Amino acid sequence: MSTDLASLTGIDVPTGLLIGGEWTNGGGGQLPVTDPATEDTLAEVADGSEQDGLAAVGAAYDALPNWAATPARQRAECLRRAFDLMTSRAEPFARLMAAENGKSLRDARAEVTYAAEFFRWYSEEAVRIDGNLTTAPVAGNKILVTRQPIGVSVLVTPWNFPAAMATRKIGPALAAGCSVVLKPAEDTPLTALALAALLEEAGVPAGVVNVVSTSRPGPVVAAMMADPRVRKLSFTGSTEVGRQLLRQAADTVLSCSMELGGNAPFIVFEDADLDAAIEGAMIAKMRNGGEACTAANRFYVHEAVAAEFTARLADRFGRLTLGPGLDESTDVGPLVNEATRTKVAGLVDGVAGDGAKVVLGGQAPDRRGYFYQPTVIDQVPATAAITGQEIFGPVAPVIRFSDEQQALSYANNTEYGLVSYVYTRDLARGLRVSEALETGMVGLNRGLVSDPAAPFGGVKQSGLGREGGHDGLLEYLETKYIAADW
Ligand code: NAD
Repeated sequence: MSTDLASLTGIDVPTGLLIGGEWTNGGGGQLPVTDPATEDTLAEVADGSEQDGLAAVGAAYDALPNWAATPARQRAECLRRAFDLMTSRAEPFARLMAAENGKSLRDARAEVTYAAEFFRWYSEEAVRIDGNLTTAPVAGNKILVTRQPIGVSVLVTPWNFPAAMATRKIGPALAAGCSVVLKPAEDTPLTALALAALLEEAGVPAGVVNVVSTSRPGPVVAAMMADPRVRKLSFTGSTEVGRQLLRQAADTVLSCSMELGGNAPFIVFEDADLDAAIEGAMIAKMRNGGEACTAANRFYVHEAVAAEFTARLADRFGRLTLGPGLDESTDVGPLVNEATRTKVAGLVDGVAGDGAKVVLGGQAPDRRGYFYQPTVIDQVPATAAITGQEIFGPVAPVIRFSDEQQALSYANNTEYGLVSYVYTRDLARGLRVSEALETGMVGLNRGLVSDPAAPFGGVKQSGLGREGGHDGLLEYLETKYIAADW
């Protein structure tokens, strides 16, 4: 069954590919988009081919010189108009994401605000691209350092934040003077297409932003990456795909920014403010129904407070309403697809078999849509498989610890290093532990770190580079050094 998307969401979404300012059908057929709450088809969009990807690279390459030479103030004003337009259409964008991703309207509205902020932040950054001039200490010549746009950038985004992951890349790329090809996730292309139309309306010239949705990301992205006109890959997605893309990038020595998977520890010390820790846990775990790279994946709770923490968390989870994202009363929407639900269910069943206690949930409800119950599991062994990989669902495993060193060694025992959360009233301990945690970001007495003005990113196998803040702009700039005598 197909739904009337415009009446459901309040927004007209183009369903073609955007290449060089033209909306085309592409050469690969049609890609159906499913509503995860009903399993019905929401819409069909053009399914791009390798040739479409290369045509988009060509369009971006042709548009690059003019865009790079456009005064920064003008580029900034395009981004600022995009912020204003997106803010004025916040509700239709939120409804569109709730429909194609399944997230609750509350989460979708928060994402629109967050996503639009990247346009505003980078409209402000566009006019602050600086360089410097020094005198060589020995030779006495001048060392002139300038920054230039890196060039055509391929942007590959995941389905879990369909708007924010796109604007977090498009904002800095356009601010820097780069042109882009956006390749959205196959589960959620509609938001990306709506964003592209919005950027056209904001005055971004033809060819500067191109969008190619496809059901075959492997070959389409590989074809674009192999094209020497492409000079940047910015990827957000799983560590597994990220590793593969880094290998491919070697062939053209392509600059890569990688925002990959996470396995966030959430540490609650015995002196923590438990009210604050529960509030933080609700955000860190349940924002986006657990489908976030920053989602708390492992709750390490001191043995003195573990029973109380777990009981209170289960009580809060138990009061959440599961339902379609588009229902105003929904707290937790469905997972994005059947494969994700099967994975979540497998991890919960596995840990239950390891002797842990499922205190709440632990099942998929008997209804249509890819739903999974909010779940709390107590007394999880530190070595359980669920602690080693991203759950990506509304499941909180609680592991008990006895001292700071043990908490740190549990937390750092992973190949991932995106974000950690720490709750303690002792600020000296909080800062000491924050420094010792092997992650790119730490939430200290906070369950949310994402902020357009802050450098977001991971260490270890969670990624390379940063998005957001001033650092995010540098990912799209090359440093040029001119040794000058004058
Ligand atoms: P994914 O790796 O399966 O897909 C991400 C994107 O890569 C999609 O656009 C997909 O079409 C594309 N892709 C898939 N296979 C590809 C291939 N062989 N070559 C080129 N492109 C390919 O990830 P996902 O399931 O869409 O997203 C969830 C993952 O993203 C999680 O691991 C999550 O932690 C991660 N994520 C990370 C961040 C971050 O900022 N670090 C943010 C959000 C999500």
